[in-house]
Amino acid sequence: MYYHILLTELCNSECRYCYKKSLEEFDNDLDKKFEFDFSSPAKFEVDIKKLKEFLKKDKDSVLIFYGGEPLLEIEKIKEIIDEINVPFRMQTNGKLLDKIPSSYINKIDKILISIDGDEKRTDFNRGDGAYKKVMDNIKFIKNNGYNGEIIARMTISQDFPDIYEQVLNLINSGFTSVHWQIDAGFYKFDFHEDKIKKFFEDYNKSIKKIIDYWINEMKKGRIIKLYPFLGIVESLLKNKSTKLRCGAGHSGYAITTDGKITSCPIMNCIKDFYVGNIETSNPAELKKIYVSGRCEKCSYLDLCGGRCLYWNKAELWPEKGNDLICKSIIFLIEELKKKIPEIKELINKKIINLSDFEYEKYFGPEIIP
Ligand code: SF4
Ligand code: SF4
Repeated sequence: MYYHILLTELCNSECRYCYKKSLEEFDNDLDKKFEFDFSSPAKFEVDIKKLKEFLKKDKDSVLIFYGGEPLLEIEKIKEIIDEINVPFRMQTNGKLLDKIPSSYINKIDKILISIDGDEKRTDFNRGDGAYKKVMDNIKFIKNNGYNGEIIARMTISQDFPDIYEQVLNLINSGFTSVHWQIDAGFYKFDFHEDKIKKFFEDYNKSIKKIIDYWINEMKKGRIIKLYPFLGIVESLLKNKSTKLRCGAGHSGYAITTDGKITSCPIMNCIKDFYVGNIETSNPAELKKIYVSGRCEKCSYLDLCGGRCLYWNKAELWPEKGNDLICKSIIFLIEELKKKIPEIKELINKKIINLSDFEYEKYFGPEIIP
């Protein structure tokens, strides 16, 4: 089981789609739908020995350091790594990666780093100097022996559909793993029909271009880990259905700063998604929460998995808005389906291998944008 561990609710960035949106005056009506609980402290206060006891009951535990910004709690990270023997992953904005000793960062096998594309785009979203700091820090940890996987974790805002250019920029800057999620459907106040329609028109065109680029690279024997493609193509090649691809509520949970267990880090203060507590719960018996509503009725569920548990349950956008999101998911799936014969041929010719499409599930990339 995968556990995001919420080390702090604090952050050292003020990103447009996260911090700034959360400050905007909006009425999500979520309190009418869910029961909230703001009792957790800002920082992780769980006794590490109790966390260890809990994780011992699950021989497949993987811990994902998460926040706020987890690197604001470097001492806690060190304490956990010293005390607990499980695989570690992390999701970070990367600004403090040069502050954690290499003996610790080198034990975190996979790191998702928030970066949105080129310098201009990343700094616009995340603040001046964000891009340079992150790129410098990546170089720094690599020079100090880091050889795990570094995944560029992009957020695609509704203002900028030029994903092809931005993904290519990241690849040309040295990233070999990229994941993106569209900032759509997570706030009630940011649905503007004409704007999002236009966004998806351009975004879909851009997706087509990245798929072509991806396949061309494959012809040279190179599989770039573009997670939103990888997950779907693996399922298509193996003819396998999927559950919610991020794992939330069935294979992945989040541990709050006071040890409650909830379905996903985004739902850390919504009681409806609580499934237990590290002191009293058995990992094998944690309640499962699955997507419902529109996804249950969808013929693409087996391949899509349902996008996002929070989005699915919160239903913040009107039906027509969510239809537009789903149309773009279906577009992505259908475009990839068209490429399957070509991919199979490359596998048959041994230019690439089926195993190149395998990846570790649930450690962070949410797969469906
Ligand atoms: S396409 Fe939309 S409705 Fe269908 S499973 Fe995916 S998220 Fe759910
Ligand atoms: S996709 Fe949604 S449910 Fe899954 S981890 Fe992300 S926010 Fe949580």
